[in-house]
Amino acid sequence: MAPVSFLDQVNRIFDQAASHTGHNATLLRQIKVCNAVMSVAFPVRRDDGTLEVVEGWRAQHSHHKLPTKGGIRFAPDVQADEVMALAALMSYKCAIVDVPFGGAKGGIRIDASKYSASELERITRRYTFELVRKNFIGPGLDVPAPDYGTSPREMAWIADTYSSLRPGELDALACVTAKPLAQGGIRGRVQATGLGLFYGLREICSDGPLLKSLGLSTGLAGKRVVVQGLGNVGYHAACYIAQGGAVLVGLAEREGAIANSDGLDLEAVMAHRKATGSLLHFPGARNLARTLDALELPCDILVPAALELQITAENAPRIQAKIIAEGANGPTTPEADEILHRRGVMVVPDIYINAGGVTVSYFEWLKNLEHVRFGRMEKRYDEAAFGRLVSAMEGATGKRFSEAERRHLSAGADEEDLVSSGLEETMVTAWQAIRETRGRLGKEIDGRIAAFVLAIDKIAVSYKDLGIFP
Ligand code: NAD
Repeated sequence: MAPVSFLDQVNRIFDQAASHTGHNATLLRQIKVCNAVMSVAFPVRRDDGTLEVVEGWRAQHSHHKLPTKGGIRFAPDVQADEVMALAALMSYKCAIVDVPFGGAKGGIRIDASKYSASELERITRRYTFELVRKNFIGPGLDVPAPDYGTSPREMAWIADTYSSLRPGELDALACVTAKPLAQGGIRGRVQATGLGLFYGLREICSDGPLLKSLGLSTGLAGKRVVVQGLGNVGYHAACYIAQGGAVLVGLAEREGAIANSDGLDLEAVMAHRKATGSLLHFPGARNLARTLDALELPCDILVPAALELQITAENAPRIQAKIIAEGANGPTTPEADEILHRRGVMVVPDIYINAGGVTVSYFEWLKNLEHVRFGRMEKRYDEAAFGRLVSAMEGATGKRFSEAERRHLSAGADEEDLVSSGLEETMVTAWQAIRETRGRLGKEIDGRIAAFVLAIDKIAVSYKDLGIFP
């Protein structure tokens, strides 16, 4: 039997969820299909003078809202099907967190580690040129962001190439997000996905009845957590989770994994890894035989934040966590999903829990269109108003606040404060909507199906507003 592709897997979950919605079959088909795919192949000159043909794709899954939005990955095995699957997940993710975009994803088939910075720059700029030529990029058309193998550096090259091809376009910087700050980026984007994951987990852990049904006490504080992958998502998630009072009992990276049931100090582990080149042999911790073994450690919450397809039918029966928060995209196979659901483990799906990145990318796009930093207009005004309130309180109570208390009470919000606040509101509201959908559908429905149903319902509303679907 041929292996089921990633796209088939996504569509299979879609079909399962769709069967719980009662929407018209043609409308469901319109929501499911990929609306447009562009493929390119272009020659690139390597630093040694040789020529190479590079292939790339950009899929726009859903045009129900524009622009479309999604990352660009540089990976040796990327292909059209994978990009289409990831674009579909972006449509559902944006719908769940009320980000008014359709989903998209791009990919270039290269192993970025085998190319110099100047070669990567030539590839990124040429790919952007192709996107511009085919109308697959623009503030109102399609807005890329980083993904596997790309970073703010590539986003700066994309913004620069786009701007130079569209001279005088006032909103040009809004053509791509997660740019460096000086190129129109936003404060708080780097840590957004990890911080969003923390807000989501904290909200879930505050649900007493849900936690009780999982055999856990209410609250994130004291929960034992294992994190796989200490990159952008995993590191920041671990950082905020630990600040929230949970205990990091296991950490896994490419080279190996470590465990300590009394807790691991994240910053000390990171410093040890920097100094020795490895997580292993961290003082007081136990080395695990295989890095994948970390997923099976005794813990309450597992955060896979490295790669796809980590939790499979093979290891799912041995996973001890009660909650799995999918920091990575697609870390759990559908077979593993079924096993975990049967075993009463709650999987908090990627399309919700790692949506912090696209949420803050949306804020960056808004900032670029507004041409003003969030908080610039009102921060000082608020501080003056709060200051008058503090003085009035002092006058009424006869108590004098210290300088530090006064500063704290009268602080106005800067850009990072507002970004965090918007992200928190988004993650909390979205979880409440998923919980409500799950409650409506019944307990046998898992979190992933509930999240898909919510997304389908929201996209269906946009299409119904067109007046062509029943
Ligand atoms: P990253 O490259 O910054 O981090 C990934 C980390 O995982 C690296 O430190 C890497 O060494 C480690 N890793 C690789 N193989 C491993 C293995 N076998 N075991 C343990 N660790 C391993 O990437 P990222 O941006 O943190 O993305 C991680 C995942 O999260 C991806 O699936 C990505 O699609 C998803 N994601 C990222 C964002 C974002 O904003 N960065 C948003 C949503 C989803």
